[in-house]
Amino acid sequence: MSAYSYLTAQEIPTLVERLAPHFEQVLVPTEQKGVKESVIFAPWTKGSPISLAKATVPPKAAVFPKCETLFSYKIEKDTQDAPKLTLNPEIYAPKTLIFAARPCDALGLNILDRPFLQSHYVDPYYAAKRDKLCVVTLTCPSGCENCFCHWVGIGPAATQGADIVLTAIKSGYVAQAMTQKGQELLEKCAFKDGTDKVPEVNQARKAAWESLKPAPDLSQIHSTLAQSFADLDFWTQETQACLSCGACTYFCPTCYCFTITDEGDAQSPQGGQRLRSQDNCMAQLYTREASGHNPRPNKALRMRNRVTHKYMTYKETWGAFACSGCGRCIQHCPVGLDIRAILLAAIARTTNTPDMQGGK
Ligand code: SF4
Ligand code: SF4
Repeated sequence: MSAYSYLTAQEIPTLVERLAPHFEQVLVPTEQKGVKESVIFAPWTKGSPISLAKATVPPKAAVFPKCETLFSYKIEKDTQDAPKLTLNPEIYAPKTLIFAARPCDALGLNILDRPFLQSHYVDPYYAAKRDKLCVVTLTCPSGCENCFCHWVGIGPAATQGADIVLTAIKSGYVAQAMTQKGQELLEKCAFKDGTDKVPEVNQARKAAWESLKPAPDLSQIHSTLAQSFADLDFWTQETQACLSCGACTYFCPTCYCFTITDEGDAQSPQGGQRLRSQDNCMAQLYTREASGHNPRPNKALRMRNRVTHKYMTYKETWGAFACSGCGRCIQHCPVGLDIRAILLAAIARTTNTPDMQGGK
């Protein structure tokens, strides 16, 4: 069986319908009712509309939910003995399909995999969800105003992290299997062979690349940022407008700060629960220690942490950037703060060149 299937635009819902029986949940980009221009990954049910627009919020919550229960616990008193503590781990990991993610979303999942799966300790909650995840990527027909995936090593037609890649051509879509899992699923969907459409696919992907403006060279950005690290005037200036709202981190497919809280009463009949919730390093309280000391007490230091983690320290640890260039942090920042401008300013600062907004 060929790795390529062909379907018309009208058959996109049919593709989802044929994939769905193999999963417990299918998340598709869906226009959010009552919220202007908001597209979210929502559970699909037969007949529900599918938007093929780039989602406002990435599908990160499929593996790293906004809030999840790690375990529940209960203390039962015993008149004859010491109180008994019972712990019940709760790992919720439905077999999930993410449909029509963009290449930057799929790369975002690869970026999350390293700290959660390849560190000394594997995170069992993330691992269980990731293991049951399948990703169908839709390549982008062109770049957009805020995205810069080609700065960080991918591009609008990148296939990393996808099991199946969909590409729009003039007469419809071509679905290409990228993994064994993707191949088996496509075979079960039984669409027409798309091998003869490969030249059109290549042409569409080439056109997407050609729509991009040249990217600046970020191959040395980690050492550029290291040289700028101690220059607090630089970080203060670059962060002046920031409101510390954290939107940039909550919309980001690659941010993985979290906090742990206990809720409920261990001695009540319902017991207590330990929860993990997404958190954000741009918040003042994120790093405040129990003593009251805060190693990042102002927004310049927090921005420095955010930027250097993405382009310096993560790269030193894992050999890649912790940014997929999706541009959501730029698009959703209420004051228009642009992480690309900070990188370019750091380059200009170390090379003494004018701070040109090149590549945008
Ligand atoms: S979204 Fe903008 S204003 Fe809000 S914390 Fe991020 S950079 Fe600052
Ligand atoms: S830092 Fe900004 S551009 Fe990079 S992945 Fe996060 S939201 Fe996207």
